[in-house]
Amino acid sequence: MSNTIVVTGAAGFIGSHLCGLLLEKGSSVIGIDNFITGSKSNLEELEANKNFSFVGADICNLGKIDADVSQIYNLASPASPIDYQQLPLETLDAGSAGVKNMLELAREKNAVFLQASTSEIYGDPLEHPQRESYFGNVNPIGERSCYNEAKRFAEALVMAYNRKHKMQTRIARIFNTHGPRMRANDGRVIPNFITQALAGKPITVYGKGEQTRSFCYVSDLIAGLYALINSSYSFPVNIGNPTEVTILQLAEKIKSLTDSNSEIVFKPLPKDDPIRRKPDISLARKELRWEPKVDWEEGLKKTIEWFKGNC
Ligand code: UDP
Repeated sequence: MSNTIVVTGAAGFIGSHLCGLLLEKGSSVIGIDNFITGSKSNLEELEANKNFSFVGADICNLGKIDADVSQIYNLASPASPIDYQQLPLETLDAGSAGVKNMLELAREKNAVFLQASTSEIYGDPLEHPQRESYFGNVNPIGERSCYNEAKRFAEALVMAYNRKHKMQTRIARIFNTHGPRMRANDGRVIPNFITQALAGKPITVYGKGEQTRSFCYVSDLIAGLYALINSSYSFPVNIGNPTEVTILQLAEKIKSLTDSNSEIVFKPLPKDDPIRRKPDISLARKELRWEPKVDWEEGLKKTIEWFKGNC
């Protein structure tokens, strides 16, 4: 059987780390990205490996892939709130036509297909912590809907291919993740707070900072994706770290870990910003024998170290 794996969104933060892991495990990797939000510098380490090849393309307009492919990880999509709100049509295309193209490629190659889904499909959740059985509370026309609804449609598409064509498919619901190679300006909370704290600028907490998130370090996240695609479980699985913190706690922790004199300031809470988010990961523990290993303080220290050298 072929040991060649396709990763879309390879020049992105999670995609580039995933490609690195797959190369380490001895696979050949074909990375695909159109650089709409990914960056060439994320590919530098990978391109030094002879088992890595790269196709610069949009998954909505992908040319032919000649190689035999055994697995496809479909990660290509704008993913941070400011990115997808600036690129709403591209985000909807990636989650619909793009996913369909990649599913067709998986069907042609008889490859296992993993779709990167998201905790955003739960919207502003009324169930806490969120289990995979929860259907979500999503505003279909809100500012986040181009992403949430595209990802929900993508899950429906994956399940339709699974049922109609009896394909091997996986759905990973990825919760907030951080680590090296996040873009300093992607607008997400951890890059914002770290770059602000390191520059001695005000740390911008939105709302009162009482909203919660649960942050997973990227090495744990990609280990979860790897375990999932190599399992035989075809329904959605939450992949994230269940340690829940308020955004104000996060601001204070980053301020103390960076020894920063920055003041913490409060800005308006964006519309449809989920109030509480924490994955229930019992299913991943049971089906994948996976759970995060890096605790939140240790993970933050690693991310801070990286930003110190890169911003
Ligand atoms: N947030 C904040 N200050 C910032 C950026 C984000 O308080 O400078 C908050 C945001 O309102 C949200 C949380 O941090 O409640 C996580 O935001 P992020 O954009 O990282 O991801 P989300 O989980 O909302 O997709």
